[in-house]
Amino acid sequence: MFRELVVLLIVLLFVVMLVRAGLFKSRQLSVEPVTRQVIDQKAPERLSKAVQFRTISYQEETECDRKQFQGLHEYLKEAFPKTHSTLTREVVADYSLLYTWKGKNLNVSPILLMSHLDVVPIEPGTESEWTCPPFSGDIKDGYIWGRGTMDIKEGVLGILEAVEALLQEDFVPERTIHLAFGHDEEVGGPRGASSIAALLKERGVALEYILDEGGTNTIGIIPGVNVPVALVGVAEKGYISLELSVRSEGGHSSMPPRETAAGILSRAISNLERHRFPSKFKGVVRDLVEYTGPEMTFIKKILFANLWLFKGLVVSQLSESPNTDSLIRTTTAPTILEGGTKENILPKRVRAVVNFRILPGETTETVMKRVADVINDSRVEIAQMTQAWNPSQISDTNSQSFAAIQRTIRQIFPSTVVAPYLVTGATDSRHYLPLTRNVFKIVPLVVTSEDLKRIHGTDERISVENYTECIQFYIQLIKNSAQ
Ligand SMILES: [Zn+2]
Repeated sequence: MFRELVVLLIVLLFVVMLVRAGLFKSRQLSVEPVTRQVIDQKAPERLSKAVQFRTISYQEETECDRKQFQGLHEYLKEAFPKTHSTLTREVVADYSLLYTWKGKNLNVSPILLMSHLDVVPIEPGTESEWTCPPFSGDIKDGYIWGRGTMDIKEGVLGILEAVEALLQEDFVPERTIHLAFGHDEEVGGPRGASSIAALLKERGVALEYILDEGGTNTIGIIPGVNVPVALVGVAEKGYISLELSVRSEGGHSSMPPRETAAGILSRAISNLERHRFPSKFKGVVRDLVEYTGPEMTFIKKILFANLWLFKGLVVSQLSESPNTDSLIRTTTAPTILEGGTKENILPKRVRAVVNFRILPGETTETVMKRVADVINDSRVEIAQMTQAWNPSQISDTNSQSFAAIQRTIRQIFPSTVVAPYLVTGATDSRHYLPLTRNVFKIVPLVVTSEDLKRIHGTDERISVENYTECIQFYIQLIKNSAQ
């Protein structure tokens, strides 16, 4: 009798799991097909030219070569004549650009398409590892090569190509469209994006939505989904760096105290790594599962449709890889360790910097409090470093703006699944948060996890085909949002 009962329960459990998997409905929009715009064959060449301007951002502002930015400004004028004669162009904070394309209907709120003009430097010593020199902009083997082809001159040029193409057809947007291209995103946008945002705020601009970088069109990155997944960032993690320091008497290393400054500091760091911030499986990451789960292979679908049973398993799988672990917790990363000058002298002070990326729902204050609790040692001084900010608000995936982006992706990349995503890095759009409730973050670069290493790395490149799709995406998005 007991055996029969157990068998019955197991069968029932399976039935429940299967029914739930069957009810796990796709969240993907079915869209009407569109004829894709034919893109001017000169477009890749124009991106190549833009890559040749070495608009590098360095931490030390004095190192930046401002002539390169001015050169790029002039080049854009020449390359996109209709855009420059129709839209209003303003130079903000000396090197950033703000364009305004006035809409027919001033009663509907404008949108803002963002990108940035600067790029990161080439890591010294790696120049020779590039297939084509990093600032050559060479077009070879179907790719445009060089720093900025992925991050993110294809965004700047792609948007301008789209506007220029629409102007050729005498398109006038229903709503006003702003284009904002900062010049110092790679160092946090302290002058560019923050000045443009302040200017728009002063003018009382309230935006329907902002489109920024942050997500991509990924292949093979979301486990269990066999088609590309376009990850649209709907929130961004917060940021804080804490300096931990320990002082000591110093003295000769032949008579060290039982506990040295270095030992005390090491224990503090080790405690932080052993007591990680707790994982949280809710909010954006939960939505990511809601959008991707129904598109998964059958076994995975059963798993994700039955989180009431398998949540623990899913969370432990997510925490396996740093890529997905960063989506479910505030991360802890010691980045600088300093102390000591001579092998036989005890240092008077040792210091470490630990960088935290903060999950929505937590704040810089809660992080500082927890760090102090975990270290629990008054000999370790904890000080906040200058740059710090809280996680962004979460944009509305039920909004028309999200639907417009989702529709556009499905029109240009028909087999692609669209899903909301938590951006773990920091981008310029956080400066604009007071101007809108909705910030969506994607550039439709088609990338594998191998390709992601090219961003800020070696052999950055974009295929001519994908660049063409990016331009088609911006054209279609403008039509879907402002027609
Ligand atoms: Zn970027």
